[in-house]
Amino acid sequence: MDPQRWNRRSLLTSAGLLAATTLAAGPGAPAQGRPTGDPAPGADGPPTGGDDGQPPPDPHVALAALLAGNRRFARGEARRPRQDLATLRRLAAGQHPSTVVLGCADSRVPPEILFDQGLGDVFDNRLAGNVVDDLVLGSVEYAVRAFGSPLVVVLGHERCGAIAATVTAITRGEDPPDHVGAIVAALRPVVAPALVLPGDPVENGCRANVRAQVRALRERSPLLADRVDRGRLLIVGARYDLDDGLVTLVRPAGSTGAAWGAAAPAGAAGGRTGRP
Ligand SMILES: [Zn+2]
Repeated sequence: MDPQRWNRRSLLTSAGLLAATTLAAGPGAPAQGRPTGDPAPGADGPPTGGDDGQPPPDPHVALAALLAGNRRFARGEARRPRQDLATLRRLAAGQHPSTVVLGCADSRVPPEILFDQGLGDVFDNRLAGNVVDDLVLGSVEYAVRAFGSPLVVVLGHERCGAIAATVTAITRGEDPPDHVGAIVAALRPVVAPALVLPGDPVENGCRANVRAQVRALRERSPLLADRVDRGRLLIVGARYDLDDGLVTLVRPAGSTGAAWGAAAPAGAAGGRTGRP
């Protein structure tokens, strides 16, 4: 067995607790009872699963590991796991990514780096504005079906240029040139309702878009919806902060704390501001 194989039991008790502890404590605060530079056993291990005889990991375990990796990154304690030649060679025969990401193409938001993951861990789908279209949906479905990936993360980010361009197009009537207009056209019906909210329109648009794309994945894909209903897949929205490097989960609109608690480690939703 690969020495770095995921141990579900140890991860549930280490990474899950690690994520909850550090999230509750906030950025820069060490996990209680452990020096900041002391690795948590299994916390950065690959939550693999699929056709190798092992069942896919629990979706919540995969999410806890991902968030734990982000906290390492934001503290400046990234371990950069599984980025060596041995991993490259091991993966040449096949992949078992634990997480599927639909993220923005923004050069400042690379999932493997900000989640402190390695080769074979993340099935990336990146597109300016992180919009679900038929091609993206097919790519996400492919990963979930072929590799048994238990977690899909829609990752928006602070000061997203695609969202800003959409806000400008709506408020000033300035449509972008060429094919950038296709992105704005896709985002317009999602961002427009958020413009009536108080606060920064780009920030509100980012959160509205994350929620909309999470809904789209489930509503447009019977495959994904079925796996969610059976507890084999978790689809979550998240926002990346360009200033401090932290990822926080974005609550589904109208969700209650109790309902959301099943999907999120303690303290993960809303970030430091407590925003939804
Ligand atoms: Zn962006």
